[in-house]
Amino acid sequence: MAHVVTQACCGDASCVFACPVNAIHPTPDEADFGLAEMLYIDPVSCVDCGACVGACPVGAIVPGTRVETAQLPFVAINALFHEAGRDHPVQAPVPPVVRKDDSRGTLRVAIVGPGPAALYAADELLKRPGVQVNVIDRLPTPHGLVRAGVAPDHQSTKSIDGLFRHIEDQPGFSYVLNVEVGRDIAHEELIEHHHAVIYATGASQDRVLGIAGEDLPGSGTATALVAWYNGHPDHADHVVNLGTERAVIVGNGNVALDVARILATDPSRLESTDIADHALEALRSSTIREIVLLGRRGAAQAAFTLPELVGLLSRDDIDIVVEGTDLDAPSGDAMTDRKLQALRAATTRPRRAGNRRIVFRFATSPIELMGPGQVTGVRVRHNELVTT
Ligand SMILES: Cc1cc2nc3c(=O)[nH]c(=O)nc-3n(C[C@H](O)[C@H](O)[C@H](O)COP(=O)(O)OP(=O)(O)OC[C@H]3O[C@@H](n4cnc5c(N)ncnc54)[C@H](O)[C@@H]3O)c2cc1C
Ligand code: SF4
Ligand code: SF4
Repeated sequence: MAHVVTQACCGDASCVFACPVNAIHPTPDEADFGLAEMLYIDPVSCVDCGACVGACPVGAIVPGTRVETAQLPFVAINALFHEAGRDHPVQAPVPPVVRKDDSRGTLRVAIVGPGPAALYAADELLKRPGVQVNVIDRLPTPHGLVRAGVAPDHQSTKSIDGLFRHIEDQPGFSYVLNVEVGRDIAHEELIEHHHAVIYATGASQDRVLGIAGEDLPGSGTATALVAWYNGHPDHADHVVNLGTERAVIVGNGNVALDVARILATDPSRLESTDIADHALEALRSSTIREIVLLGRRGAAQAAFTLPELVGLLSRDDIDIVVEGTDLDAPSGDAMTDRKLQALRAATTRPRRAGNRRIVFRFATSPIELMGPGQVTGVRVRHNELVTT
């Protein structure tokens, strides 16, 4: 039985280059690679050699014979991707490698930011002899959002740290920590001492909603909350009010699913993760029983990915409610139909006493956070979905 890519896949394509029969798609040179939620193994071409398992930095690939119950939906999801047949057109041929001029001595490159983008770039550079890479972070601890963003109960994703350590151990690699470019050092100074500077600083800005009450205590951004429960030094002193019965999350992407899942999880289940101690302590006295996710459009347009949805729905300690959308209307896209089918199945399963619940409320937008002095409610409007 063919190997299967499961939830933790971060799409870095390491497995693609390990596969001797080109069974894993989309590959980086295919048009849909940049849009893919994960990579998928073609069960017809896979010869079960196992080479991709060791190549995957997050342990996302399992032999078909060892798929755990919670991973079973991924057998069909991998097959579904390949069902329509693919002709694998080459859209972006890899450009020829530019040779380094060894007569000019060591090539010094500064990389600003120590997240996955920076470390993969460093790895690529250090494959060539005579290269020195200085990776600069404004924080005392590297790895960017893998440390401060990825949810503490996603240990498999965080295990990419192992690959990062391997990159860091290469000759020519060094860190410059606690240095913020633009504050402690200027770009001009960096370029004075390096032949090139690569900026890999991620996307740390929040988007404001622009509605009344957004600044009230009790309202906050996912960036701050996620950083708080992940022990980010900038957010350790944050006070998070978990003393209500209901929390509302605006948006329904994968970060929203992460936050909802953490709030809905019994703290005892988080003890074995690397969640920050202060967050675990606060979650122990949380009174939140219901987390409502507001999505402005329907379930077919939701931003969460199928792998993350499947992961959430495998949790029988969390009840799922879906409101404001038609889960029966075919979307015209096989993967999206699979999402709708998964949500349909989750809504029909029996509720369990003691479970917290996550409510997916679609076609709903917030128009005001109500006060005074502290958020006491969210005024919403129902949206009509118009297809043209
Ligand atoms: C809540 C959350 C959960 C996620 N979960 C997953 C998941 O389960 N699976 C998955 O595959 N992906 C997940 N992601 C996405 C993944 O974390 C990001 O795609 C990835 O970390 C982006 O890498 P990056 O290198 O571009 O930037 P980042 O990881 O953001 O790293 C940028 C780094 O640059 C540093 N920096 C910024 N400005 C400066 C400056 N001026 N000087 C010096 N340093 C600077 C920052 O301190 C930071 O460390 C998640 C993201 C979030 C926010
Ligand atoms: S098990 Fe072997 S043949 Fe199958 S996808 Fe992995 S590398 Fe390719
Ligand atoms: S995370 Fe693993 S399964 Fe996903 S693309 Fe990378 S190597 Fe392949």
